[in-house]
Amino acid sequence: MLKRKVSHVLVVLFFFNSLFVINAAYAEQVVVYSARIEQLIKPMFDAFTKDTGIRVKYTTDKEGALLARLKAEGKNTPADMLITADAGNLWEAARAGLLKSVNSDVLSKNIPAHLRDPESAWFGLSIRARTIVYNIKKIAPADLSTYEDLADVKWRKRLCLRTSKKVYNQSLVAMMIAEHGEAESEKIVRGWIANLATDPLSDDTRAMEFVAAGRCDVTLVNTYYYGRLMEKNPNLPLAIFWPNQNNSGVHVNISGAGITQYSKNEKAAIKLLEYLSSEKAQSLFADVNMEYPVNPKIETDPAVAAWGIFKQNPMNIVKAGELQTTAVKLMDRAGYR
Ligand code: FE
Repeated sequence: MLKRKVSHVLVVLFFFNSLFVINAAYAEQVVVYSARIEQLIKPMFDAFTKDTGIRVKYTTDKEGALLARLKAEGKNTPADMLITADAGNLWEAARAGLLKSVNSDVLSKNIPAHLRDPESAWFGLSIRARTIVYNIKKIAPADLSTYEDLADVKWRKRLCLRTSKKVYNQSLVAMMIAEHGEAESEKIVRGWIANLATDPLSDDTRAMEFVAAGRCDVTLVNTYYYGRLMEKNPNLPLAIFWPNQNNSGVHVNISGAGITQYSKNEKAAIKLLEYLSSEKAQSLFADVNMEYPVNPKIETDPAVAAWGIFKQNPMNIVKAGELQTTAVKLMDRAGYR
């Protein structure tokens, strides 16, 4: 009798114990690999956990390292989601088979079609505009018109550019190839290079510092770098110009995400992705980096909105990936280092 009781207790204990183990193992969580730094993602993850009870674990690193890691881990990856900047990077992850297609009405509704993968392997979550910044003491807005015009001889020794090694410029040229074809784009890039005031610079901020110092008159940068620089030095003689407003529009790119091919928590991961595209998270996602929300229902941060409204290029950003190699080769031929 006593022996039976003891075994009963043991069975009950064992049962509760395994319940606990199952619970711990299956408590909902999403693991994110992010090339966006912690301060740009943590606020949204915290809000998501608060709303849904689903935990978010994340690792941040450079996009190249994260892609290499996903490839090496294969089926055993703990990652459910990849977050990174630039459609070129997301396209590369999808091409390498690291992302899976996601069918979600929420994502289709919240994100304009040109800012997500036609195969639904990745989705834009914020918009970055790559536009013209000029020295207000040397140039009037009326002098400026298009990206293509910066190849004109009138800009000789007046242009600064960031290095062609940066994916931002590869994407810009790739989108130009999609629009004008290779031969015409090469002419434009050659014109840019002929107009350089100095060798290509290491980053967008440095390019603007050169413009502010009068070493060149005009450059091409992502607007959030302009926002950061002007916040620090409000008196710099710099302003934004929105090119191509009478034709193709401003070149835009994205910061975005996709669900990994071997995600173990796919449902929760999709929930997080949908959440990041929602009205609740969108302003947070864009505002922390002075970017633009992808969700058209969301208002832009007032500090960013003050730079003015602009027409964006409506061509699908997938072209930035598809034509990236072509763009890199073209820039190399044109002497763009
Ligand atoms: Fe950047």
